[in-house]
Amino acid sequence: AEVPPTSASDTQDSGREPSRTGLDPRNVRRGVLEHVRFSRGKNPETATAHDRFMALALAVRDRLADRWVRTARTYYEQDVKRAYYLSAEYLLGRALGNNLINIGMYDAAEQAMREMGVDLSTLVEMEPDAGLGNGGLGRLAACFLDSLATLGYPGMGYGIRYEFGIFTQDIVDGYQVERADEWLKFGNPWEIVRPEKAVPVRFFGRVEHHQGADGRPVARWVGGKTVIGVPFDTPIAGYGNNTVNTLRLWQARASEEFDLLLFNAGDYERSVVEKNDSEVISKVLYPNDAFQAGKELRLKQQYFFVACSIADIVRRYLKTHTDFRDFPNKAAIQLNDTHPAIAVAELMRVFVDEKRLQWDEAFAITQATFGYTNHTLLAEAMEKWPATLFERLLPRHLEIIYEINHRFLRQVQIRYPFDSDRMRRMSLVEEGPEKKIRMAHLAVVGSHSVNGVAELHSNLLKRDVLPDFAEMFPERFNNKTNGVTPRRWLAWSNPRLSKLITSRIGGGWATDLDQLQKLAPLAEDAEFRKAFAQVKKQNKEDLARYLRDTCQVDLDPNAIFDVQIKRLHEYKRQLLNAVHIVSLWMKARRDPSTIIAPRVFLFGAKAAPGYHEAKLIIRLINGISEVVNSDAGTTGLQVLFVPNYRVSLAERIIPATDVSEQISTAGMEASGTGNMKFMMNGALTLGTLDGANVEIRQAVGDENFFLFGLTADEVIARKRAGYKPLEEYERNVELREALELIATGFFSPEDKHLFKPLVDGLLNEDRYLLLADFGAYAARQQDVARAYKDQEKWTRMAIHNVAQAGIFSSDRTIKQYAEEIWQVKQTPVGS
Ligand code: PLP
Repeated sequence: AEVPPTSASDTQDSGREPSRTGLDPRNVRRGVLEHVRFSRGKNPETATAHDRFMALALAVRDRLADRWVRTARTYYEQDVKRAYYLSAEYLLGRALGNNLINIGMYDAAEQAMREMGVDLSTLVEMEPDAGLGNGGLGRLAACFLDSLATLGYPGMGYGIRYEFGIFTQDIVDGYQVERADEWLKFGNPWEIVRPEKAVPVRFFGRVEHHQGADGRPVARWVGGKTVIGVPFDTPIAGYGNNTVNTLRLWQARASEEFDLLLFNAGDYERSVVEKNDSEVISKVLYPNDAFQAGKELRLKQQYFFVACSIADIVRRYLKTHTDFRDFPNKAAIQLNDTHPAIAVAELMRVFVDEKRLQWDEAFAITQATFGYTNHTLLAEAMEKWPATLFERLLPRHLEIIYEINHRFLRQVQIRYPFDSDRMRRMSLVEEGPEKKIRMAHLAVVGSHSVNGVAELHSNLLKRDVLPDFAEMFPERFNNKTNGVTPRRWLAWSNPRLSKLITSRIGGGWATDLDQLQKLAPLAEDAEFRKAFAQVKKQNKEDLARYLRDTCQVDLDPNAIFDVQIKRLHEYKRQLLNAVHIVSLWMKARRDPSTIIAPRVFLFGAKAAPGYHEAKLIIRLINGISEVVNSDAGTTGLQVLFVPNYRVSLAERIIPATDVSEQISTAGMEASGTGNMKFMMNGALTLGTLDGANVEIRQAVGDENFFLFGLTADEVIARKRAGYKPLEEYERNVELREALELIATGFFSPEDKHLFKPLVDGLLNEDRYLLLADFGAYAARQQDVARAYKDQEKWTRMAIHNVAQAGIFSSDRTIKQYAEEIWQVKQTPVGS
């Protein structure tokens, strides 16, 4: 593992016994033993593996604590501007290994545990993933926290402390079965609860309008119910520095007064019911990715964490300021998609109703404070809430939204007179049988910056989704191509490759990923290629061993490891991959020599529990797996659906991957971040011109990328011209026989008609142009197999992928947010 230089500071400061939190193995060992005794109440002999995990994690947290306090003090004393990231999701994964790497104590911890007769890696495996997110959007938030801390930016994350994160996926008879994710069951050693910073949040009630003492109208939101938000703080350590930032997650608690009132009135039962109603707010993450279900509880979750976070930000500001005109110079708030967009109305409510600012001034401050990141172009993901729901749950916010809309539409009218169609299109309120609030419009109107997450996505956002807004406020729109943290996704997850890289170019890449370019000339160094190929081979053997132990499948590590791991969604086209495997297998059955190189196809994907088609595709992949694996000996083909895809599984699979499947219908994947992780770990991309694939191909060059398929413009043109999937079906024999085999029930012997709806969907509509791209995909897969036969050439290509991965570091992304949107400054924490 990579170890950053340890600062001399670890033993100083705070006037405590200097060696209490030292980073040498002896010290770490003492810390762990103390926690076994004093935090777990055990002898070393009776301590379980879980006790030892908790003790080590607490010993690590001790070593973060001083820096955490010093970081907070530094920001406070320098009165710096802070970046606040508001996100309904944080897909953090495990923290132990990453913290050890970031504070430079991995080797010491490994040695200390070895001396105690404990294998560090078994303790690492004890930790449950913190799965407080669905996929890319939540994992992006986690990578951003790492980069903010590593770059020394005063940044803070706000979100929800879901008691249950993304469900655990079991596969039973080929079907996905969901189980509750009990990640907190055995305790969370990283978090610290701060009940003294609890915030009351109102729901329901009514608005009273009065004349204020100053003669101005006053709105008072009264009645309803109050829920308490209790913050839990998690330290976020930078790599190789003294910065420890905070992720503050809110848990819902019943408010005591309300409870007591009922209790004292003798209605014990109702008091408990009311308590449950309140606490259910932070109970569970909604498991939809890129889809809005429109549930009332979801809106409650959104307002709950937004209200707590805004109150906390305003409270912090008022510790050192009195005049709100300076607010945007001290706080930048970024909205991670529209999930927290109600923050625009909430900050206005606080400013106008509570702090008595004039509307225009309050709105100018609000706009200068917020930035909005859009994450999707899909219509079904666009958040719209019925006005009636708003009126009941958040009556004052609906009034404020109407007032914002009224003033905004007047601006539109002045700018574009006599264009009522444009006003209707731009309104925050969608008229129709049911009036709805358009959260994206609220976010755009309430922000000074609107960004997409890859070049193509940002352009399509302006052209197709928000064209009227892009025309009226061109200066507001910008792009921030996503990135991933090289600490977790290279230094931690791929220690072999990290070590090899460091041996050739030094360790500076971990915080300056562009240095990987120094690897490019080494593609011509036969010895380096050999070592590089050896690393990939060993990583594949590790993964094969793990999958043998956990899935009882024997995978051939000499085969191409061809991987598609991501949420199951029709636009991501796992079905295209599956249909192609069927056609490959059918050809191989007739003539094994058609298989150019043996191949292992790996899938990992959770489907939203209510997404029927997605669940059927999982069942199909498992059906194909059963058939194909049965004669792998003759075809050289193997297929495995790995259950319960999550961050810690991604960390095992990505370093062992040869081919990264990024095959979404062009124009539908906003960016992708999995694609970047694969590239960084030396996989070659087989992909469409979608999301950040476009920029990956630009960076590595067409000769190091397997491109196929229609472009985003061609997709639109094909649909406009009246796309007929049946014509594709009739034109392509291999496609036709594969679809026929699936339709006739070959992969579902228990129900011949099981997959008929999937095939009919393709033949009748094929919304995602799977059939239109099938031929090009199959041809490119042939190229992949041929390229793999030339191992020297393949390794050269893989090295170039690693060498050009620098721009996909989330450090680059965060610097751009900091400089171009937030205007926050790097603020190093002294030793
Ligand atoms: N889910 C997990 C657990 C991940 O680690 C990632 C990684 O980027 C994603 C989802 C997003 O994958 P993709 O960008 O391929 O949709």
